[in-house]
Amino acid sequence: MNTLETDVLVCGGGCAGLAAALAAARNHARVLLVERAGFAGGIVTTVGLPYFDGLVDKKTNKIVLRGIPLEFLNRLGIVAPDAETVPKFHVLVDSIERFKLLADRMLAEQSPRLSVLYHAMACGAEVVADRIDRVLVASKDGLTAVRAKVIVDGTGDADIACWAGAPVTKSPSLQPMTMHFRIGNVNRQPDLSAKCRDALVRAHEAGELPLFYGPGLMFHFAPDEVYVHATRVAGDASDPGQLTAAEMQGRRDVWTMFERWKKEVPGFEDAYLIETGPYIGVRETRRIVGRYVLTEDDIKAEKPFDDAVATGCWYLDLHPQAATPGSAQKEKGHQPGPYDIPYRSLLPQQITNLIVAGRCHSATQWAASSTRVTATAMAMGQAAGVAGALAVERNVAPAELDGRLVRQTLHQQHAGPYLRS
Ligand SMILES: Cc1cc2nc3c(=O)[nH]c(=O)nc-3n(C[C@H](O)[C@H](O)[C@H](O)COP(=O)(O)OP(=O)(O)OC[C@H]3O[C@@H](n4cnc5c(N)ncnc54)[C@H](O)[C@@H]3O)c2cc1C
Repeated sequence: MNTLETDVLVCGGGCAGLAAALAAARNHARVLLVERAGFAGGIVTTVGLPYFDGLVDKKTNKIVLRGIPLEFLNRLGIVAPDAETVPKFHVLVDSIERFKLLADRMLAEQSPRLSVLYHAMACGAEVVADRIDRVLVASKDGLTAVRAKVIVDGTGDADIACWAGAPVTKSPSLQPMTMHFRIGNVNRQPDLSAKCRDALVRAHEAGELPLFYGPGLMFHFAPDEVYVHATRVAGDASDPGQLTAAEMQGRRDVWTMFERWKKEVPGFEDAYLIETGPYIGVRETRRIVGRYVLTEDDIKAEKPFDDAVATGCWYLDLHPQAATPGSAQKEKGHQPGPYDIPYRSLLPQQITNLIVAGRCHSATQWAASSTRVTATAMAMGQAAGVAGALAVERNVAPAELDGRLVRQTLHQQHAGPYLRS
């Protein structure tokens, strides 16, 4: 078997993993990023989701996250580098392809310290005592064993933590998955959302559509092109069989929606289905049970943590396994002010050289329904990358690092948790 050695191995190049790889390399570590898709960006590129939430405090409209999430928006020309506020609470990426390209460029800028392998899937972890000794990566080269001083798990599903035997949890009622899609040549009309919703209710009642929500229709990319988030597929995406079934169900549901609208909704007569996202979107599978479990009570109380390394600010956004015509939830969850995410919620128990960032960090299901959003996941990833590099530099395990040092280093780099005035 081939063997590779590096300081920091980042598994998964999504929102969290991409930021982790960039941050670790910028902090002088040798980094290898492995990503199962042919591009980085996670939800934005693998699912096609342009929303970039978790950036602003709903009450004041002030930007509460800087660092890599804001850098992406600066470099896409969406938010000015010195901006204190944003025009809209919902920040949107204007082109998925530009985002993909920018991610490639930012990774390449860190070469040769940072190496990237796309089409490479982490598929096993070998543990010696309390450390991951090797991570197995499957690619067109067969299996490669990667030895790293620090591993960042940015897989969204806590794959590495689970395979290494660190405690993980899964909620009995997982949030459903969603396949996003785009329809072209739509003649935009008044009350389109309501008419589309009514058509979906009819399909649901006729037994053609098991679940759905909204629909969320957005004419963001072009005046005659609608981007749709509305499918809802139950299942556990950490189970390969269920994930496969979900991809198939998602595609079936997209086609059902498209055909219903074409037949029943004025404006869709000449429409065509452009594409479904490359992968179905997964909201929730495993999360680690880490050295601190962030709770919804912590979030509601905006509890301060000495070892805060990122800030969350999104509402408690839990999607039910039910049809919810007209919206995503029957009732919208609590909207917090900016709150702290502690470093210890990125640290698994039992394994000392692993950091877990993104939607699978240590939090209750309700707390994670807020921390899971795009920009927040990226901020956690940046913290994980900085922590990984600090651990390498000091020759200690991430679990032995003082979170206050990670926080301080992030602040020196104009990132990290929001400083309340
Ligand atoms: C349908 C849907 C709609 C959403 N809507 C919004 C929204 O409107 N606004 C918002 O801000 N957030 C939204 N979110 C939430 C948010 O986008 C995600 O929770 C966020 O992307 C989490 O970031 P992450 O890095 O943890 O995971 P991801 O961005 O999913 O990244 C995980 C990456 O790891 C890769 N990977 C997985 N396993 C392996 C492996 N074993 N080896 C190598 N690579 C691997 C994947 O290909 C992927 O690139 C939504 C999520 C979903 C699913």
